[in-house]
Amino acid sequence: MVSPAQTKEIAYEPVIGLEVHAQLQTESKIFCGCRVSYGEEPNSLTCPVCLGLPGALPILNKQAVEYAMRMILAVGGQVNGHSVFARKNYFYPDLPKGYQISQFDKPIGTGGAIQYRVDKGEPQCCRLIRIHLEEDAGKSIHPESGESRTRVDLNRCGTALIEIVSEPDLLSPQEAYAYLVKLKQILQYLEVCTGDMEKGHLRCDANVSVRPVGQKELGTRTELKNMNSFKGVERALTFEIERQTALLRAGGEIEQTSLMWDEKKQVAEPMRSKEESHDYRYFPEPDLLDLTITSEWIESVRAELPELPEEKAERFLSDYRIREYDAGVLTDSRELADFFEQVVALFDDPRTAANWIQTEYLKTLNELKLSVAEFPVRAVQVAGLLKLVSSGKISGKMAKTVFAEMVSRAMSDQQRDFSPEGVVRDLGLEQVSDESALALIVDKIISENESQVQAYRNGKEKLFGFFVGQVMKETKGQANPEVINRLLKERLGN
Ligand SMILES: [Zn+2]
Repeated sequence: MVSPAQTKEIAYEPVIGLEVHAQLQTESKIFCGCRVSYGEEPNSLTCPVCLGLPGALPILNKQAVEYAMRMILAVGGQVNGHSVFARKNYFYPDLPKGYQISQFDKPIGTGGAIQYRVDKGEPQCCRLIRIHLEEDAGKSIHPESGESRTRVDLNRCGTALIEIVSEPDLLSPQEAYAYLVKLKQILQYLEVCTGDMEKGHLRCDANVSVRPVGQKELGTRTELKNMNSFKGVERALTFEIERQTALLRAGGEIEQTSLMWDEKKQVAEPMRSKEESHDYRYFPEPDLLDLTITSEWIESVRAELPELPEEKAERFLSDYRIREYDAGVLTDSRELADFFEQVVALFDDPRTAANWIQTEYLKTLNELKLSVAEFPVRAVQVAGLLKLVSSGKISGKMAKTVFAEMVSRAMSDQQRDFSPEGVVRDLGLEQVSDESALALIVDKIISENESQVQAYRNGKEKLFGFFVGQVMKETKGQANPEVINRLLKERLGN
């Protein structure tokens, strides 16, 4: 026992475990044929099975099983050949059956780990306890103003989820954040979940406790719910760790409870005790057979796993010889990585392409708040623009103007020609690289500025810029600077 006076001196460290629910992007729900879609007319995507009508029987969606298998295999977990669905009983208005079909003591996946980095630090690892399949509940839509009734929308009811449960291996809110970013990236690479937290496609609960530094056993934990962004998770954890630490330092005790994060107030408050006193009375789901997965099935799913972010970044380094940092940025999402490869397939200078995509292209995407898929300017046009620069038809500076015009045309009127060649032609921006034409202009400038030529030849080298400027003026900025420099040096005798 330590006395309150002593406890004030103790340094505490947090221990965090996360439970993430990921909605699988299957075409239909997990136990019926209803379509899965977001933002539809309430209760329009329902049937007797997902409404929980008496006598309706569930049939397991094979695609949902395969998506869960993909995730388990991608994180190095074990797909269990035999798993069991179980009823998790609880009463809530958006759960018409009065139970949720989930998995309990025999989940489809066990083990595995997520590798993540905090900022640019060394890779760290968080082990996973399990990944299991379950169905989602519906949604209660609480009145915003003027109305007193809460409405229920059951469109989401029966949508396939996987729950990914981590070991308490995360030692700071920043680690929890980095873990979530990585988890989402993997789900997106596998094309099993959109990762959209705003639409509730990804949801996270956090278990957190603190313990004196050096102590092995865990402190009493609390559960944080209702965070709706990764930054929200980080903020809620920071709040709760400070609360627990202050309480312990003051000689208090942590009560094991669930807390709701209030993003507006930036505080976590206890749920009403009725809402958290659960006795789920799990038992095996009698309407479904046990799930048997053969090793052949596992191997066929494994064989079709896509390349994951780290492998892709490694390959980019060796195939394209780009910088490590660039490879990291370009493999951030699968669609951006694919885009880069499409550009490089058409324009054989990966470093230039990598540079351009990370600066002009991504900057524009961010400004317009568009995804790669939504952006109308495609790889073929970006490659075309880069070719115009590398062949000397336009300068790097002009390329920015041309790109801005391509984007503006593509966004406002797709009927208009927004190809780089078309824009260069229409804007009259073609760079003059024709040596004989430029030589005539250079000769003219030299003959018109005899005194400056004399001064330059007498050692006033700064005047070189003056001659370049004169040629540029004469050509309205469209002369190829390299050619001008060379021609001027030849004629001025340097
Ligand atoms: Zn249905």
